[in-house]
Amino acid sequence: MGLWQKTMIGLARSARLKRFMQSRAGAGALARRFVGGGEAPACAGQAAALAGEGLDVSWYVLGEYVADEAGLAENLAAIRALIQAAEAASLPLHVSVDPTQIGLVQGPDRLEANARALAGLLAASSAARNRPRDTFLMLDMEDHEVTEATLALHEALRAEDLPAAVTLQAYLHRTPDDLARLLPRAGMIRLVKGAFAEPARLALTARSEIDARYLVLARRMLAPEGRGRGFVPVFATHDEALIERIEEAAEVSGWAKGDYEFELLYGVRPALARALAAAGHKVRLYLPCGRDWWPYAIRRVGENPRNAVFVLRALLGG
Ligand SMILES: Cc1cc2nc3c(=O)[nH]c(=O)nc-3n(C[C@H](O)[C@H](O)[C@H](O)COP(=O)(O)OP(=O)(O)OC[C@H]3O[C@@H](n4cnc5c(N)ncnc54)[C@H](O)[C@@H]3O)c2cc1C
Repeated sequence: MGLWQKTMIGLARSARLKRFMQSRAGAGALARRFVGGGEAPACAGQAAALAGEGLDVSWYVLGEYVADEAGLAENLAAIRALIQAAEAASLPLHVSVDPTQIGLVQGPDRLEANARALAGLLAASSAARNRPRDTFLMLDMEDHEVTEATLALHEALRAEDLPAAVTLQAYLHRTPDDLARLLPRAGMIRLVKGAFAEPARLALTARSEIDARYLVLARRMLAPEGRGRGFVPVFATHDEALIERIEEAAEVSGWAKGDYEFELLYGVRPALARALAAAGHKVRLYLPCGRDWWPYAIRRVGENPRNAVFVLRALLGG
């Protein structure tokens, strides 16, 4: 990971800068580029418009690393409000959460209780709709300090037959073993390259090596045994070269389009998302909702310096 991306991750964690940017009148351009809308109803409207274009969503309530009880309660209430809005509008009940936004900072027991309650809510809402494929509590994967806790949470929820799914990061050295451990029982796994500045002792750091590892893991996720039992592999990437190789591997292993998913970040390579959907793929967009948009948006700038133009516009007033 380069200096640019590390710097942007640093900016994402600055509370002062967050307050400053989120109060800027002209910051809307940056927020609108990557964020679906403010509160639950606006975000549901955005998701309904995307559904009209054949694109599904995974909801994500903005709000990372909450250490205080008030912030935690606020996050949980916002996630519940989103689930209700999605249910009312017959939209997918596919919700992405960061473990540190729903209780990991407060302790693994609090995390598990909160995650169980949310997954239970999703399961109950989906029972009447019979859309299991669109009903998941997807656990995002944060930095290496919480990998084990996140995987343990996923296993605990699955053991209770709750609709939980988990994200794996191709760059971590441990991930091939984690995938082997998860594959026999998982309902859905999302594979990403990995977005944190991890040290070389824990993760691959060369882009070409990460891409090669991603493809190896993707092929394992596409093994025919998974297809037989309804496992859903999710390839969360904007990398067109990789996407092409994955399409080929899926075809060779007998996966029909639609039995696996591509997932992209809302606002990133929208033309690619539409082209994949037009080609018959199931495409999901990770759709952030809520007010706390600065840390999320500046991370996207870290991934692609060209996005800095939106920050400049925000600073210059629109
Ligand atoms: C749905 C989803 C969920 C994710 N969840 C997690 C998670 O839980 N944990 C985690 O560590 N990481 C997560 N990530 C981020 C991921 O790890 C990568 O950092 C990010 O997706 C960029 O990698 P890439 O696969 O798109 O490939 P890259 O090689 O980085 O990019 C491929 C192409 O897409 C373009 N591109 C990539 N990002 C952007 C951007 N922000 N703006 C404009 N163009 C861009 C690049 O310029 C390049 O042309 C998630 C990503 C997605 C799509």
